[in-house]
Amino acid sequence: MTLDETEVRELIRRIALLNAISYEGKAELQPVLGKILAERPNLKEKVKQVASVAAEAVEEVNKLSLEQQRKIVARRWPEALVEEKVEEERELPPLPNAEKYERVVTRFAPNPDCVLHLGSARAIILCYEYAKRYDGLFYLRFEDTDPRLKRSALPFYDLIREDLRWLDCEWDGEFIQSNRLPIYYEHAERILKEGNAYVCECRPDEFREKVLAKESCACRDLTPDENLARWEKMLNGTYKEGETVVRIKTDLMHPNPAVRDWPALRIINPERHPHPRVGSKYRVWPLYNFACGIDDHLMGVSHIIRGKEHLTNQRRQQYMYKHFGWKYPEAIHYGRLKIKGASLSKSVIVEGIRKGVFRDWDDPRLATFAALRKRGIMPEAIRRMIIDVGPKTADVVLSWKNLYAHNRKIIDPVANRYFFVRDPIKISVKKAPRAISAAIPLHPDQPERGSRRFQIEPRDGEVSLWVSSDDLKLFQKGVNIRLMELFNLQVEKVGKQLVDAVFHSKSYEEAKRLGAPLIHWIPRGTGIPCEVVMPDASVAGGVAEDACKGLVPNEIIQFERFGFVRVDMLDWKLTVYFAHR
Ligand SMILES: [Zn+2]
Repeated sequence: MTLDETEVRELIRRIALLNAISYEGKAELQPVLGKILAERPNLKEKVKQVASVAAEAVEEVNKLSLEQQRKIVARRWPEALVEEKVEEERELPPLPNAEKYERVVTRFAPNPDCVLHLGSARAIILCYEYAKRYDGLFYLRFEDTDPRLKRSALPFYDLIREDLRWLDCEWDGEFIQSNRLPIYYEHAERILKEGNAYVCECRPDEFREKVLAKESCACRDLTPDENLARWEKMLNGTYKEGETVVRIKTDLMHPNPAVRDWPALRIINPERHPHPRVGSKYRVWPLYNFACGIDDHLMGVSHIIRGKEHLTNQRRQQYMYKHFGWKYPEAIHYGRLKIKGASLSKSVIVEGIRKGVFRDWDDPRLATFAALRKRGIMPEAIRRMIIDVGPKTADVVLSWKNLYAHNRKIIDPVANRYFFVRDPIKISVKKAPRAISAAIPLHPDQPERGSRRFQIEPRDGEVSLWVSSDDLKLFQKGVNIRLMELFNLQVEKVGKQLVDAVFHSKSYEEAKRLGAPLIHWIPRGTGIPCEVVMPDASVAGGVAEDACKGLVPNEIIQFERFGFVRVDMLDWKLTVYFAHR
């Protein structure tokens, strides 16, 4: 490279390290390369050379542990960590026209037909955060007016409340649409009386044909009295399900056919489709845009914050607002948010539970809040991830890695460390010193928390321990290995279930000099059986050290060299859920 080579190598190394730190300790070449060229566009001429240096740097950096990577950056480029922090604490942009409203009011409006999942996080957190920031109100509104196709179920009302509380998004008021049918009826009557809606008897395909041709159907010309008479027949059961709908008059010339004279209320057979809350009390139910539009106005919602797939709904509702003489709230439509590798489709979740593919709403394979909670993902991590993304209109793709990175920043400073040996195999170390004790801090950065203590008494000069078969690949005849915080050994013989070794030396410096890898261990005859439920619902079995017998459910800990886990249950064995590395 003709440019100052050392300087460029430094730059590349810094970028690779920072990339690794943001992604669980694993840098990836493509984004690293992108960042390098963004910082130094003149390197584009030498892109091949730069790419090969970057590939080396990435490989080198990925050999280090996350802690080592952090230390290097903190020592050499402390300002880079500051930069990273500033980015973290990104603030939401101000709400448009907030000052024009006496009070900022937002709402989260779920259909209680499923538990909430990560896909709802953006709506909830943005609405809640904005209401808080402007000293406004955040409402929870259950939209449960489709007992036929999107039928709600009683448990979900409470499960959704539980999810919101867990997310720390306490609401200031709650509404349930199935309690509000008289309000929707009153507005239906008014809009019919004022000639701005009509009761349409046309078959759906007939109407569709007309509307596509920008023509009105015969019902559109009915007088208000004729419409009110038909409305009465909808309510009293003369019309049956599917025979009529109330339509809001819009513009038949509107470029989007979906906006033209949209349906506002329809009949649902109350005997065949009773509502889980109000039973068979009502036969006429409002459709989404009618109920939602009326509620937003009556509840004084100042800012509607929702996905851009609702833009057509806004166009539809604006006609109704005009008929009623209301002002449409500010509407913010954010782009799609995709989480790579997470199934965010309600139907997949509900179907999977029904068929028994998923054990329950908190099955670790799901991206429901219940599942994330079970795995030890902190609500604050979700909040930070969403605020990072904000309400921007561009589509965003996130990955689990983003969420894990946020979560790690929160739990890493508070999670105590323990040893968990997965799929244990025996190791027997000869010529061990007489008695060995080890005191390992519960948290490497916080000695005041105390230590876990191990006392090992060799028998006939021999020490017997469990180590993980995951480490079997390190064991080869003649190789030196350090048992973390204990001593260094030399491998003599490797069997499938037993490794024979001999004591080598005690000091860590010696291990460093020998280049001995560090592994964790548990003295045989101690510990507690442990099961780790992994994100793919498989179970990793093994043994956890004695100190784990004092853990309590919900505690988040780190199994060294394995990952962060949440304690779920503790009896004769320990059951934990895996969060991430
Ligand atoms: Zn018609």
